[in-house]
Amino acid sequence: MFNVNRRGFLKLTTAAATIPALSVPYIARGAGQKVVVVGGGPGGATAAKYIKMANPQIHVTLIESRKEYVACFLSNEALIGQRTMDSLTVSFDSLKKHGINIIIETVTGIDPTSKRVSTREGNTHTYDRCVVAPGIDFRWDAIEGYNERTSATIPHAWRAGAQTRLLRKQIESMRDGGTLIIVAPPNPFRCPPGPYERASLIAHYFKTHGKTKSKIIILDSKDSFIKKELFIQAWSRMYGYGTQDSMIQWVAGAEGGQVDKIDPKTLVVQAQIEDFKADVLNVIPPQKAGAIAATAGLTDHQGWCPVNQKTFESTLHTGIHVVGDACIAGSMPKSAYAANSQAKVVASAIITALEGREPETPSYVNTCYSIAGHNYGFSVAAVYTFDDAKKTITGQAAVTAPDASPVALKREVSYAHSWFNNIIADSWQ
Ligand SMILES: Cc1cc2nc3c(=O)[nH]c(=O)nc-3n(C[C@H](O)[C@H](O)[C@H](O)COP(=O)(O)OP(=O)(O)OC[C@H]3O[C@@H](n4cnc5c(N)ncnc54)[C@H](O)[C@@H]3O)c2cc1C
Repeated sequence: MFNVNRRGFLKLTTAAATIPALSVPYIARGAGQKVVVVGGGPGGATAAKYIKMANPQIHVTLIESRKEYVACFLSNEALIGQRTMDSLTVSFDSLKKHGINIIIETVTGIDPTSKRVSTREGNTHTYDRCVVAPGIDFRWDAIEGYNERTSATIPHAWRAGAQTRLLRKQIESMRDGGTLIIVAPPNPFRCPPGPYERASLIAHYFKTHGKTKSKIIILDSKDSFIKKELFIQAWSRMYGYGTQDSMIQWVAGAEGGQVDKIDPKTLVVQAQIEDFKADVLNVIPPQKAGAIAATAGLTDHQGWCPVNQKTFESTLHTGIHVVGDACIAGSMPKSAYAANSQAKVVASAIITALEGREPETPSYVNTCYSIAGHNYGFSVAAVYTFDDAKKTITGQAAVTAPDASPVALKREVSYAHSWFNNIIADSWQ
């Protein structure tokens, strides 16, 4: 990504907004064709909705294993009691009103030859095009001592729901003077600024709930992270970062932050140079595409799904498009906004394919807001295009200025909240 100034960025976003990714005229040519979407997160739900809106003649079936979707985005606010879990929970009912067939089942197989999707519940669904949007799974074998079983008491809270509630309970009941350790994952992973936003909001919680002697240590295998300068500035301003009394300590990979082993009984974390003892431990493990992607043969040796980044059609199986966190999307991050934007490109690509036309040249957008404390937010916003020569998505980004005024920082928090309402409405309503 390249940085551009605010004016240049506005020009780009205006241009992106005018690209008619979904101004595809509805014609009856796709009539009777079937699209099956696997996964009802922002990637799958948006794809289903926009295909149906663009051509109501196409039968769209969305198969999702959970009765309701619980959003990870803004779940860091829920961790510290600033947002309810209910506010993160979305029903699939409105998608039914668009004429989408919603099936609550778990997909266990996708056969690209017979073009059939099968579910654990014993049903099969045929398709002309399939969209696979299963999000992420964890590499349970990456950190000794941390696995699916131990995550029942040592939360990752990187899938929202019960895990978010568990970590919240632990944060609330931690003694003052205790240490909360966040083990941050290596790239690529869901929500690159997420672990650092989490540390910030937990520090805010400690500061405002009589736990001022408590510490947060981030153990990281990386030497940098997105918006690092803005986070460090926020931590210095609000949580004493850089002083002896800092509430937050970030241990980079080069300083021994890489974690190889944890002891789930004692909560001792073995990092490269020294051991750390936690009162509350939040391990965010290394990640890969959601399991069904691997089962369906859609992943590469690193566990992610290679796609033609112009149409998101799998390069391993034709007729299947992979969207959202599971796919490899050039320089786009694994975010809900990116998944939503990619899904619109997929919808357009599928409509044009089913109608026998060539795909349009897409553009894509993403903004990631981070809330670091009371009335203190910042963002990175980017517009992406498909580079035909390199066959990849490249982007231009703008971040909040380091000298942004308190009013501007406060405004970013309200932008984050209205972005949340907009993405929910655009994806599921
Ligand atoms: C703490 C945190 C904060 C975040 N904050 C932001 C933010 O501020 N902005 C932002 O843009 N992004 C944010 N994100 C990232 C965002 O949540 C993800 O990038 C986004 O959810 C990805 O969407 P997706 O549709 O690819 O996958 P998901 O949202 O994971 O949806 C996948 C769906 O597929 C279903 N599924 C999986 N396998 C199957 C199967 N076999 N059969 C049926 N259904 C299946 C799952 O149940 C799930 O509902 C945050 C993430 C975290 C963890």
